[in-house]
Order: sequence, then C-alpha cells, then structure tokens
Amino acid sequence: MKSHDGMYIDGGWRPAAGTDAIEVVSPSDERTIGSVPAGNALDVDTAVRAARAALPQWAGTAPADRAARLAALRDALAARREEIADTVVAELGAPIGFARAVHADLPITVAGSYADLAATYAFREQIGNSTVWHEPAGVVGAITPWNYPLHQIVAKVAPALAAGCTIVVKPAENTPLVAQLFAAAVADAGLPAGVFNLVTGYGPIAGQALAEHPGVDLVSFTGSTAVGRRIGAVAGAAVKRVALELGGKSANVILPGADLAKAVKVGVANVCANAGQTCSAWTRMLVHEDAYDEAVELAGAAAANYPPGDPHDPDTRLGPLVSAAQRDRVRGYIEGGIADGARLVTGGPAAPAGLERGYFVSPTVFADVTPEMVIAREEIFGPVLSVLRYTDPDDALRIANDTAYGLAGAVWAAEQDEAVAFARRMDAGQIDVNGGRFNPLAPFGGYKQSGVGRELGVHGLTEYLQTKSLQL
Ligand code: NAD
Repeated sequence: MKSHDGMYIDGGWRPAAGTDAIEVVSPSDERTIGSVPAGNALDVDTAVRAARAALPQWAGTAPADRAARLAALRDALAARREEIADTVVAELGAPIGFARAVHADLPITVAGSYADLAATYAFREQIGNSTVWHEPAGVVGAITPWNYPLHQIVAKVAPALAAGCTIVVKPAENTPLVAQLFAAAVADAGLPAGVFNLVTGYGPIAGQALAEHPGVDLVSFTGSTAVGRRIGAVAGAAVKRVALELGGKSANVILPGADLAKAVKVGVANVCANAGQTCSAWTRMLVHEDAYDEAVELAGAAAANYPPGDPHDPDTRLGPLVSAAQRDRVRGYIEGGIADGARLVTGGPAAPAGLERGYFVSPTVFADVTPEMVIAREEIFGPVLSVLRYTDPDDALRIANDTAYGLAGAVWAAEQDEAVAFARRMDAGQIDVNGGRFNPLAPFGGYKQSGVGRELGVHGLTEYLQTKSLQL
C-alpha cells in the first residue's frame, strides 16, 4: 500500500515535526502494510494556522465556486474508486464487494450531495426587516474513527467546505492510508492551499491537541462515547461548537404479524455488515414470545451465510475485525454473554477454523438474552447479535428505549402505519421502517448518549454554519 511520510498541510506534503510513526497492520494477515507519521501538537498547530490563514478567502468564495470544487473532489474520489476500495480492504479488512459499494461509493455520493447543496442552499434569508446570513462557523477540527474511515472524513469535510469553513482532520490510527488517499484527491481537485489539512497521529496526542487548539472554532468528533465525553468537556470549557457522533445499541423490533423471515434475515445481515463494526448496527433483536423460537432458529441459520473469510475474495461477506485489540474485546463480550447465562446459538469466542491468523470472529447469535445482561447493554462492535423476548408491543418499546444510546433502530410490522407509529415512540435518531433503505441525504445522528448534532444532507450542512442578522 502507498503511504506518505508527511502531513498534508497548506496544499502539500510536509515533513512531520517529530520522528514517531504509526505502523499500519492488515487485519486479514497481520502483516505491516505501511507506516504514517505520528503527528504531535506542533503538527496540529501548523495545520490549524494554515486553515486559519485560508479561511477568509474560502469563506468569501461564491457558493457556486465552492460547489464546483466539491464536484471536482467527487470526481477525483470517483477516479480513485478502486484504489480506495483496495486500501480499505487492506487496512480495515472490509470485504472487497462491500468496500466498493459502501466504503468507496458512499463517500463519493456524499461529496456529490454537498456539491449540489453548496450550489442550492439559501445562505441568505429575509425575516421581517432583518437579512439573516448563514455564515461559515470558522476553522473545523475533525476527529474520525476507523470503521467507515473515508465516509466519516467526507461526512465532515464536504459539508464544512460547502459551508465555507476550512478544516483539519485527524483520522483514526488504524486507517490512516485511506485518509492520505483522500488528501491526494483534494490535491487532484485543486482546492486552495490550507482549506483541507491532514494530521495523522494518536488520539490522546494529536486528537487532543486538535480539540484543545484555540484556533479551532468547531470540533466535530465521531468515535466512542468515552472519548466524545472528554471532547465535549474540552469544547464546552472553551465555548467552542461541538458535534459528537458516538456509539449505539440499536433495537430491531419485530412486531407480531411482521414478515418474520425477512425481518430476521435483514437483521442478521445488518449486524454482519462491516464485521459488526457499525455504530448504527441493530445488535438487539426484539421478538414477541410467540415467534421467539422460530426467530432464533432463523437467526442461527442466517448467520451461517456469513462464514468469515479473506476480504480480498469477492465471495466473502464477513472479513476480520480491525485489530487484535478489537477482536479480543469482542471475544471477551462473547465469553461474558455465556457466563451471564445467555444461550449461544451459533458462533462463539474461538477463532474460526482455518483462520487462526488474522483478527477473525465467527458470526455469533445469542438467545435468552435479558435486558440487564452486559451483551444487551454495551456496544460490542463485532458480529454479535442478541435476541430478546417481549410480551407485548409496550414491553417491546420499553426494552427498545431502555438504553443509554439512541442512534438507530428498525421496526417491522404487518401494517406500515403500525410500524411508523411505533418508530415515532422510539428514542433514536434514524429508524428503518419495514426495511426502508439508507438515505444519504437524511439527517444521521443520535438521541441521548449517541451524540450531539446531525450529519449528512442539509442538516449536516447547517452544523457548519452560524447566523448573523442584519436589521435594515
Ligand atoms: P475512539 O473514540 O477510540 O477513536 C475515535 C477517534 O478519536 C480516533 O481518531 C482516535 O484517535 C481519537 N481519539 C482517541 N482518544 C482521543 C482523545 N483523548 N482526544 C482526542 N481524540 C481522541 O473510537 P474508535 O474505537 O476509533 O471507534 C469506534 C467507536 O466509534 C464506536 O463506539 C462507534 O460506535 C463509534 N462510531 C460512531 C459513529 C456515529 O456516527 N455515531 C460512527 C462510527 C463510529
């Protein structure tokens, strides 16, 4: 894999301030595939200064010109589609088909959506005798995770640039190579120097320096709730704008009369996608007691369709987890579930046969899970499904909402109206009704401890704007 030994700052690759490096390891065979510099506070400072210096001119650019640059960025990403997919297979372990369709194509779509929004959004409105301008929030510090590494960068950079902000990105340690590819696409697209800057590095060093930097006006973070809490505190103390996209423990509620076979099949696919490393994954399946045994059997059978395998093989649907630490964490949760008395239907903590090398975990289904068990409460971030029993729809709603999180969910019912009414009572930011498709223009973000703010579409754009009222 191609990797740069510098930081992308002020329109070019610059040497890092220090000599520390981060080794990038392939999760499918545990080989080192690259190395990037581990940035420190000096690198962050240089990048933030470049972003500040570029701000006045970029903020003053006509929205149509920003739209044209974003369209060029979309095209630059599209031209690198195969390179992006191969890089995500290599550093994340995502299966190649999923890497193309989701890890590459989704960010290309999102970049394009912000080219359209920059061109069409009303940055000025009239309210009585006031003209209200929607102005850029300033310099953005973005800190992103590894699970959808390019999507999460683009879901911050594209709206920030569309709004007229400039940005410094600190990507996750495990997946810096696709972040460097993104910087190369920014260069291809001819964005002015300093508008986008990349500092690779460790979270507690480079990430923290970015969140704390006084030259950053808005911090946008995606990652764990634990780190999000700290970032929120740092931003709050400095009275900075903050957006947090955090974890989840989403419920897939199958109401009596729903198409059980379809609901279970889609639910298992949802949990196995990206090896379960999806913040919005429906990791709790809630089934009425009368349909429970059948659902458990169907879920076990569906999980068998996801044998772990080499992510380079086009037939593979379940690759490894991103790292040894993540694999061990997930195995620990599986062992904990067994110890707590949940019934293991399929999978388990042992390495899948023939896959002792690489960070593989078998798709795992637990039955007889009760709401107070750890596997029903904590985000596992692996291909692990808990099937819970409910007695009536009110009981299902109580269990669904009995979580600190509120990112996503699903409802299945015989009648669409019934499913919609139930979804309206769920405390979560996006709920798929009877298998409704993901919409890259719909707001994405969490209720409760799943976060603050929304990404994607016009709601994602307004996060990066602030208003000024001129009374005339
Ligand atoms: P993480 O919180 O450990 O890391 C996320 C990012 O924060 C990384 O870039 C990391 O380097 C950085 N970081 C770590 N410590 C930091 C610190 N002290 N100061 C500043 N930055 C720091 O999370 P992760 O393990 O990379 O990602 C998995 C988590 O992200 C899961 O909990 C998942 O649910 C969540 N997630 C949420 C969404 C969403 O949109 N809601 C999307 C993807 C992932």
